[in-house]
Amino acid sequence: MTDSFRALVLDETDGKISHSFSTLTTSDLPEGDVTVAVEYSTLNYKDGMIINGIGRLVRKYPHVPGVDFAGTVVSSDSDQYKPGDRVVLTGWRVGEMHWGGYAGLARVKAGWLAPLPEGLSTRQAMAVGTAGFTSMLAVMALEAQGLTAADAGEVLVTGAAGGVGSVAVAILARLGYKVAASTGRDSTHDYLRELGASEIVRREELSEPQKRPLLTERWSGCIDAVGGTTLVNALAGMRYGTSVAACGLAGGAEISGTVLPFLLRGVNLLGIDSVMQPYENRVKAWQRVVSDLPMDKLEAITTVAAFDDLPKLANDILKGQVQGRVVIDIAGS
Ligand code: NDP
Repeated sequence: MTDSFRALVLDETDGKISHSFSTLTTSDLPEGDVTVAVEYSTLNYKDGMIINGIGRLVRKYPHVPGVDFAGTVVSSDSDQYKPGDRVVLTGWRVGEMHWGGYAGLARVKAGWLAPLPEGLSTRQAMAVGTAGFTSMLAVMALEAQGLTAADAGEVLVTGAAGGVGSVAVAILARLGYKVAASTGRDSTHDYLRELGASEIVRREELSEPQKRPLLTERWSGCIDAVGGTTLVNALAGMRYGTSVAACGLAGGAEISGTVLPFLLRGVNLLGIDSVMQPYENRVKAWQRVVSDLPMDKLEAITTVAAFDDLPKLANDILKGQVQGRVVIDIAGS
């Protein structure tokens, strides 16, 4: 194992967050029982917030961000993993409270890792990343409430051209659902149809407040990455007894609507949290990724970027300018 490695390090001076690429050594690594040579990490909305010092997600500096990574175990004090095992990490506040994946080496608790499923490379795992893993959890949550392709009408995906949305569209289409993809970017319509969307819904149709608390019953299910008024309008347009999986807040954290969709239409609002998911569910979700996400579609939504590109990309994702999934090539940079 090489002793030194490259990392993106955040520092705080007078409340301002700055970043630099630094060379660290294994003695700098935090406590943990498994050390992983990171091959790929990725860019999530939360990474954009953290690199730009937004949201007070990081409490202690210097800090290595990167909320997910995939790589190979180089040393382990845990019975669960041995050197050479391929692993993936999402969640557990890694990259926020704990040092993350934007580094050549990461040291974490064994319980935070999941074995990489057969048939998935470390690069593909990070093309999925926290965003795509969350989409899979959302699909599983909707299924657990009874959604099936056989009897479903349209399933709405909001923020469809982003990371969570793109993977959700691809998975739902593969499973045989009719997918209505909501996007604010005209340039992404062909991209979304390629992923399997059968209809495009313009963002404004959902993002503007409506006068009526209930809209025409249209959606059989919804995966919402946007929150705010979009979530309120999605709830108001759900068919009787259906469910919305709330994943994100790209359009706002506050919701202001009525309880009528719940009371009069039996609509369910399902919260999706990828961070603290129990181990068994993680393993199940990664296996479902292999069986239900078409790898050619995953390839089509993925851009591989160099480590050095991260600071710029972190700005782009906050402006809603990133399409699909961005993989960060840590080992090759
Ligand atoms: P992206 O930036 O890749 O995608 C978000 C998409 O939302 C954009 O591409 C855009 O889609 C749409 N959007 C952006 N701004 C607005 C706006 N003001 N109004 C309406 N739509 C908007 O981010 P991710 O897909 O990685 O993450 C999406 C959300 O999910 C984030 O809020 C993130 O924090 C959350 N998340 C939650 C997780 C969980 O565990 N619950 C895990 C991972 C992410 P388009 O261009 O198509 O309109």
